This record gives sequence, structure tokens and C-alpha cells, in this order.
Amino acid sequence: MPLTSKMSRKWTDRYALIVLSGLLPVVLGVLIIVWQANRSLKLEATQTAQEAVRQFDLMLENAKLAADIVLPQAGRDCAQVELALREQVTRRPYVRSVNLVWDNQIYCTSLFGKYKEAVSPEKYANGVLWLMPGTMVTPNDPVLVYRQNKDKRGVLISLYGFHLVNVLGLVNHKTYLLIVVGDAWIDRYGQVRNTPPPHLPVAQTAVPSPEYPYRVIAGFNEGEVWRHVIVEYPGLLGLLIFLGIVSALTVNRLQKRSSSPSSEMRRGLEAAEFIPYFQPVVRGDTKQWAGAEVLMRWQHPKEGLVRPDLFIPFAEHSGLIVPMTRSLMEQTSQLLAPHSSHMEPGFHIAFNTSAHHCQNLELVEDCRRFLDAFPPGHINLVLELTERELIVPTPTAHQLFSELHTLGVMIAIDDFGTGHSSLSYLREFNVDYLKIDQSFVALIGVDALSRHILDSIIELSAKLDLGIVAEGIETEEQSEYLAAQGVDFLQGYLFARPMPPAEFIEALQARLTPT
Ligand code: C2E
Ligand code: CA
Ligand code: CA
Repeated sequence: MPLTSKMSRKWTDRYALIVLSGLLPVVLGVLIIVWQANRSLKLEATQTAQEAVRQFDLMLENAKLAADIVLPQAGRDCAQVELALREQVTRRPYVRSVNLVWDNQIYCTSLFGKYKEAVSPEKYANGVLWLMPGTMVTPNDPVLVYRQNKDKRGVLISLYGFHLVNVLGLVNHKTYLLIVVGDAWIDRYGQVRNTPPPHLPVAQTAVPSPEYPYRVIAGFNEGEVWRHVIVEYPGLLGLLIFLGIVSALTVNRLQKRSSSPSSEMRRGLEAAEFIPYFQPVVRGDTKQWAGAEVLMRWQHPKEGLVRPDLFIPFAEHSGLIVPMTRSLMEQTSQLLAPHSSHMEPGFHIAFNTSAHHCQNLELVEDCRRFLDAFPPGHINLVLELTERELIVPTPTAHQLFSELHTLGVMIAIDDFGTGHSSLSYLREFNVDYLKIDQSFVALIGVDALSRHILDSIIELSAKLDLGIVAEGIETEEQSEYLAAQGVDFLQGYLFARPMPPAEFIEALQARLTPT
């Protein structure tokens, strides 16, 4: 609201709020989507790891079957069992070689027949599984060795590392998988490592085998969450951006609406911030207080006391001037009625009245209520209508002014000389007073032409039998001149400035002895 430049909130604040309201749904929505993406990646990693464990257990199941059959043969001469070993290699999928052990010594293999090599049980996780980087025959191809042992008898079944690597790469190519056996691990790249397994930054999950001593770790690389969000939720992302824009536009509209003059005034009206100030009107001859003009002030919580010319035009434009004037009349009657005894009979109380207020008969009721608050006939209620805003002479307007006349309400034409009211207009609406505009008063002693206009107005009012009020009197010279011309009432800083109710009541009490 343009009361002062301070009043419109700083534009940076306004835009920050708009940007924030636009970002908030997007940020909240993205957070929820990211949380959801993390959950589904975790689920995907777990399911992939479980599937890999199932596959590996299947391979080891074959090794175990072969071992179960061959173990009782351990200790027998190699030449006698060699064929049985080879048969297992042929019959069992994934199995690369079968080796017989006696007293921790390999003595017979499906590959070479009679053979001699020591077994190191400590290399086997739980004495059962060993992930070997390579063998003597194929030093770069890893193998998984399954061991069974009973007393001095033992069997070692080696499984192709190729199958392991295949599973690690193919179960779900998006998920990074590795199998950990004891201290060694291997991933889809096929190299056995004895370092601690790597930490996977997204959704890392470890699934142990229920049957054998190994576990599978699954997870995703850095950035997978965002890749997932973009690939899986493009529609939702679009919707969030749309919601953000809608929210920013709504806040923008609401801000515009809430900072509009009329909504700010509506708030002010509800908070009873529009209060009356009183400026006394004195008699031209005796200079005694004959009445007062009620002038509206806005006691704004941030701006302090606001002058009426800064907000009355907005109030008139929005129609709020009617309830505002009504409130002013109610406050005035409540404030002044208890002090009626300090006002001489016929004391004038004048309200500035907008043309809006004259469009229906509500004004009659407002005036009646005002007058009813005072002892009957004790005060004169005056409505000041500015000459710049003439009332359209409709049947309703005529009825209004006739009813006001019956009620005893007086009509003054404010700012007289600045508009175009005709004689017939003055008669039509039963005008009682003319208020000479202060611009003519200001030129007394300065400009001869203005003085002529002033003299003509005074003359005219006498001819029409209208009372006359001169306002804006600031100097003794103006006061003396107007008094000499027979002007009935004078108003201006020379006598008193508009003052708050308490000050006005105090001055009233001091001036007049109770009647
Ligand atoms: P107005 O009706 O012509 O009121 C007289 C204005 O002249 C007041 O200004 C008053 O403070 C000022 N004034 C009084 N004596 C002197 C003086 O000796 N020298 C100078 N320079 N000024 C003097 P204010 O209170 O600022 O009001 C300005 C205008 O706002 C009023 O002019 C009136 O048109 C409007 N207004 C004030 N209150 C109301 C209201 O309740 N309703 C409506 N519709 N308009 C109002
Ligand atoms: Ca006035
Ligand atoms: Ca005036």
C-alpha cells in the first residue's frame, strides 16, 4: 500500500518468499522420492544378493554331491578310483576337478591321476571353502574349492571360477556384487583379492549363505540414487516442478492481494485503527468554540499516524469509506456524548461525507443513531460534502436529503469554489453552509483576484441565506478580514489544530462551564 515507500515490504523479501514457496514442494517431494529410491535400491540389492547366493549354493550343492560319493573312496589306490573321480567331473555341472586326500595330502586327482601335494586346512573358511586365485594349470583363472574331511580321508572339489564371475556379472548388471570367502573376495572382474571388501556407497547389503561359509555383498556406486530417480520417476519430477510453479504463483497472487490498499484498510478497520481527531470551529465574531470538524486519522501499527489524504482516496475507491465513516461516527458519539454538558446548545459536529455514502438511505440511520446518543436537540450534526464530488440528483438522493433535513441534519458544501456546483444544486439538496476552500483564504492580502472570488462567495451565501465557514485560517490578518466580512464561522491553525479526543475533551471542559 503506497502510504510511504517504507510500507511496501522490501521487494527482496517478497521475492525470497515466492522463490521459497516454489522450492518447498519441489525440495520436499524430491526428498520423499530420494527416500523411496533408496528403499527400492536396497530391496533390489537384497534380492540380487539372495539370487546370487541361490546360484552359488546350487553350484556347491553339486560339489557336495560329488564329494559325498567320492569320500568313501579316499585311501584306496589311485589307479582304482581315478575313473570314479573323472566320472564325477563329467556328471556334475560346474565341477572342474575332484581330488582325493589322505592325511592332508592330495594323492590322486581327476586331472593327473596319481599326484602329490600337501593340503593347508587353515586356508579354508570353516575348513570348507577356499577361493583360490589360480591353479598350477591355469594360474590366472580363479577356482572355488570345496573340502570334505573325515578322519584321514578327504575330498577337494574345485569349481570353475568362470561360473562365479558369470553369476556376479549377470544376475543383475546394474547391481555391483561380490562374493566373500574367508579373507578373499572376487567381483565380476574376476580377480581374487585378499584386501577387506570395498564399501559400496549406496544400499550396501550382505547376504550370507544358509549352507556354506561365504557371503554375497551387493550395492551400488555413487550417484545411483539420482540416476534411479531420473530414470524411474520422470513423471513425478515433472509434477513436482509443476506444483512448485503453481505454489510460487499462488503465493505471488496472495501477496499482491494481501498487500493491496483495500485489504490493508480492511484489516485496519477490523483493528479499529481509524480514529477521530477534532478541529474546533470558532465563531467569527466572538471566537468562541461553536463546533468541531471530525477528521479521520489512521493509527497504523507500523507507520504511526497516517494523514487522511493518503488513504481516503483508496477508501473511497473500494467503498470502505462507508463503514469507516460509520465507525468514526460511532466512536465520536461514544467519546463526546458523555461531555454534552461542556458543549453549548447547537454545538456543530461535522463529518466529511463521501458521495458513496449518499447512494442509499443507510446514511439516515447512521445519523439517527449518532443524534440519539446526545440529549435531544443539543447538538447540530453537519455533513460536509465536497464540491469536487457532486451528488447525482437521483430519486434516492432526493429522498435521502429530504429525510436528513427532517432529522435536522445540516449539509455543508466543503472546498467551495474548487468545483462546479450550481445554484440549483445548492437548493436541490437543502444546503445549509458553504465552506470556503482554504486556497482562497491563503491568498488574502496576497492576490486581489482571489479576494474578489472570496467576496463574491460571501455575498452569494448571504443572498442565498446560507451560513458560511472559512477554513485554513493561519494569520490574524485572514481572521480579521473574514470576521469583518461577516463570515459566521472560522476554522484554522490560528485557533486550534486537529487534536486527539482526550485533548479535545480536556479543552472543551476548560473552555465552557457546565450548563
Ligand atoms: P478537509 O475536509 O478540507 O479538511 C480540512 C483539512 O485542512 C484538514 O486536513 C485539516 O487538518 C486541514 N487544516 C485545518 N486548518 C488548517 C490550517 O490552518 N492550515 C492548513 N494548511 N491546513 C489546515 P486533514 O485532516 O489532513 O484532512 C484532509 C482531507 O481529508 C480533508 O480535507 C477531507 O477531505 C479528508 N478527510 C478527512 N477526514 C475524513 C473523513 O472522515 N471522511 C472523508 N470522506 N474525508 C475525510
Ligand atoms: Ca471538511
Ligand atoms: Ca475543505
